[in-house]
Amino acid sequence: MKVLVINAGSSSLKYQLYDMRDESVLASGRVERIGMDSSIVTHEPVDKPEVRNVSEILDHVTAVKRVIDMLTNPEFGAISHLNEIEAVGHRVVHGGEAFSSSVLVTQEVKLEIRRLFDLAPLHNPAHMMGISAVETNLPDVPQAVVFDTAFHQTMPNTSYLYPIPTVLYRRHKIRRYGFHGTSHSYVSAQAANYLQKPLESIKMITCHIGNGASCAAILDGKSFDTSMGMTPLEGLMMGTRSGDIDPAIVPFVMNKEELTLNEVNSMLNKHSGMLAISGISSDMREVTEAMVDGDKNAKLAFDMYAYRVKKYIGAYAAAMNGVDTIVFTAGVGENSVALRKAICEGISFLGIELDDARNEQRRKDCREITKEGSRVKVLVVPTNEELLIARDTYNLVKQSRTS
Ligand code: ADP
Repeated sequence: MKVLVINAGSSSLKYQLYDMRDESVLASGRVERIGMDSSIVTHEPVDKPEVRNVSEILDHVTAVKRVIDMLTNPEFGAISHLNEIEAVGHRVVHGGEAFSSSVLVTQEVKLEIRRLFDLAPLHNPAHMMGISAVETNLPDVPQAVVFDTAFHQTMPNTSYLYPIPTVLYRRHKIRRYGFHGTSHSYVSAQAANYLQKPLESIKMITCHIGNGASCAAILDGKSFDTSMGMTPLEGLMMGTRSGDIDPAIVPFVMNKEELTLNEVNSMLNKHSGMLAISGISSDMREVTEAMVDGDKNAKLAFDMYAYRVKKYIGAYAAAMNGVDTIVFTAGVGENSVALRKAICEGISFLGIELDDARNEQRRKDCREITKEGSRVKVLVVPTNEELLIARDTYNLVKQSRTS
């Protein structure tokens, strides 16, 4: 079965086509600047050169049509006819309390995703546009949705409730949902597989550190707590997001700086984090380079970033009454030797013995970076959210055919 994975944003759409016989990627790409004057389609077939195409793409329906054109192109396509696409899987950021696992798209599921627009106003409407666009272009193809929040629906109420008036939870569903669930789920399963132990037997902390960043405490094989909250703003310091701050700062800044709610929101989401502290960049590579060159603000940003990850690891070790394995993943977690070292060296009391040579290896596979015999094992596990979406979609469609 060939499965098309789609991640639709408001003005972009990323795609990947999988052959599920061996889970290989046949082609991937992205459409950018949808609805703007010159949209760009970048198509990357496996074993063939990249193709770039600039044209006017007014909406998601046209974007999906272009993707299908690319995939079926006789010269650089990956399939000969669109009917080879037997299922489509979508990434959906917010599944609220309604979805604790991936599901096939039905009228009810679409209605529920719409009900959640309030909680994810930037993301869920764009995902719905992607789903509708596939319906228009591939009307007979089953679709599935895989939610960033679903994995964390196992959290106990002690983890997910905020200590604010409970009426707000009842009326507006204000609670911790957590995000990056697909990644935390994928890397925790990969780590257990690498260690050849059942996931249920490992107290694990997974650190997904990219532009966005979150930690998850995984107990009995399930998400027990996670650092992102009702929105992806809470928790760790990120590229441009503040992470945890005193909530009283919001009204204080609004008052002192005469800012509107939207402006404060934008400040915390787009102009904070590593970008604000370093004054250089939100990109860990640039900040690290500047730090090595002696820039004090870059060093402060790097140190604060590492310090905040360390604090969450400590908190989750306490929350689970122990930790056996720590996993680093995503752009920074998989690649930043310096950040992993700074984090691990500061929490050696937990029983972590970092192996510098292993940490410095630049490999793309799942690996351990602690010494043989280290009581707590630290692993680097490359994440692959698209593959998990493809797997869930494949399994749901296969089940629906046999039932
Ligand atoms: P997103 O949340 O957008 O998916 P990624 O997981 O791709 O983000 O992570 C992007 C981050 O990873 C950037 O801060 C980038 O600097 C960092 N990164 C990528 N490669 C390296 C590297 N070799 N060393 C340090 N940081 C890296």
